[in-house]
Amino acid sequence: MGIEPLVITFLILLGMAFGSFFNVVIYRLPLNKSLVPSSKCPTCNYAIPFWLNVPIFSWLFLKGKCRNCGAKISWHYVIVELITPIIWLLVYLRFGDNPILLFKYLVFFSYGIIIIFIDLYHMRIPFKLSIPLNILGLITLFIPDNDVTLYRGLAGGAGSFMFFLIMMLAYYYIRGREGLGFGDVLLISAIGFFVGILNLVFIVGFASLLGLIIMALFMKYSKQKLFPFGPFLVISAWVYLLWGYRLFEMYLHYMFMI
Ligand SMILES: [Zn+2]
Repeated sequence: MGIEPLVITFLILLGMAFGSFFNVVIYRLPLNKSLVPSSKCPTCNYAIPFWLNVPIFSWLFLKGKCRNCGAKISWHYVIVELITPIIWLLVYLRFGDNPILLFKYLVFFSYGIIIIFIDLYHMRIPFKLSIPLNILGLITLFIPDNDVTLYRGLAGGAGSFMFFLIMMLAYYYIRGREGLGFGDVLLISAIGFFVGILNLVFIVGFASLLGLIIMALFMKYSKQKLFPFGPFLVISAWVYLLWGYRLFEMYLHYMFMI
């Protein structure tokens, strides 16, 4: 697939605009506030005019401060506006030659961005996000030319949901505290619907390994016991979908000489 400058420019601009909307979702959804994008300063409620609401550039121009009250506007907002177009571009380079898969994975990766930040801030994944993501994943299984067969998709979604729900309850009864959260179970099953059971095994395995490594490093410096698992799952899914399939293909090639 060729790299078309016009498409890429469009994707970057659209990605920045959507990143700006994702900020609204990340900030307001856990607080049960309206998601209608009316940009206001979080401190003084000053309505930000459209010409001061250009992703990234306005923040740089205003040096990260509200024009009205001078309150600092967190660089976290800019991170999401930067990450979104980059992620969208990577998805385009990987799935760009199939419009249906491109759209499917733009939705999947975009949800991931929102879930990472909400889970980092609030240590939970709202049902308002995880349940629609499961439904969307289930719907993709009925799209013609989907990259996951119906059987593998159902096994990945519904199958993993049953499996991890039992694991979660068993852990709770044995240890008397929560290990895996129900939000994580719903995130795993949603990923399963999107990628199918085989890919899900690699993604959950990779996420657990990554989680253990980061936790071991982090525990040295912090007494914090709670750890959000969502970001590890999302990032593993991203890495696997963007690059990991090559490793898997190499593995199959050497194992079975196909
Ligand atoms: Zn303000």
